[in-house]
Amino acid sequence: MIETERLTKRYGNLLAVDDLSFSVGQGEVLGFLGPNGAGKSTTMKMLSGFLAPTEGIARICGFDIEKEPVKAKREIGYLPEGAPTYGEMTPATFLDFVADIRDLRGDHKRRRLDEVTSRLHLEPVLLQPIDTLSKGYKRRVGLAQAIIHDPRVLILDEPTDGLDPNQKHEVRSLISEMAADKIIIISTHILEEVHAVCDRAIIIAQGRILADETPAGLEARSPRHNAVTLRLGDTAIDAVRPALESLAGVAGIETHDDGGMTVLPIGGAELLPAVGRLALERGWDVSELQVESGQLDEVFRQITSADVGQETRT
Ligand code: ADP
Repeated sequence: MIETERLTKRYGNLLAVDDLSFSVGQGEVLGFLGPNGAGKSTTMKMLSGFLAPTEGIARICGFDIEKEPVKAKREIGYLPEGAPTYGEMTPATFLDFVADIRDLRGDHKRRRLDEVTSRLHLEPVLLQPIDTLSKGYKRRVGLAQAIIHDPRVLILDEPTDGLDPNQKHEVRSLISEMAADKIIIISTHILEEVHAVCDRAIIIAQGRILADETPAGLEARSPRHNAVTLRLGDTAIDAVRPALESLAGVAGIETHDDGGMTVLPIGGAELLPAVGRLALERGWDVSELQVESGQLDEVFRQITSADVGQETRT
């Protein structure tokens, strides 16, 4: 379990993290979302004990990160932003070094080194200086050092940032694999990542929590949630438009250049049954009918561009 109570960080006059309270439990993958400068990295540094909070408390598996830092840090694997490592070392020497720092010894150390090497597919580059590795391999080395001591908590700061789509996919699969028996917090400004790996998302801006929901819950806030997109065969759009507009719960109709149209709901109203019935009754030639779940990027923009002072803190 990770718990924060009124966690706050000031850099001089700048309030970077403002009174954050939340908890994350076993098996949860929490996405920490926010625009650049929102306070994500600062929060993660405080959670992992790299930075002391100005006020407030962070507890990792029951250990206060400030009062019992050694016990708390034993439970944490941390991948800092950009995953810095010692570039002149090889993955083999670097991971050996980290295993020593993590106090792994003898057979256990050997087993863990073998395990992370194989889990992150590092065999081909074990003896090559880290500086000379591709970004994807560097990130894998960063993940390997984070999990070498098999921590219960993983804190990953922008784990896929700067990777190509294949490498992103690979890192996300690794995170999903590890999710079953760990608590994972990942920070990201990439919204598709939330869909791909998270079962909960906290959106922060200017250091404050603005939303704490499942990805589906966030999508439900989109004006396009439950919108119905239709494509018509021989029937003309103008012939169907008035009937659709007069349906209960319809906010408006959007037409697209490609000939499709979208019926937008009022307040997420479910329109599909009524639209389907109408199309059948009137004998419209519908070639495609699709319900939209909502657009996360729209919701994200809406939430993070709102006046922060007007939002309720949670
Ligand atoms: P994010 O990770 O969401 O991009 P950060 O936590 O890195 O945000 O930064 C939050 C705010 O704190 C930003 O305005 C940033 O400029 C500022 N900041 C971060 N680190 C420092 C620091 N060491 N000294 C002063 N200001 C900092």
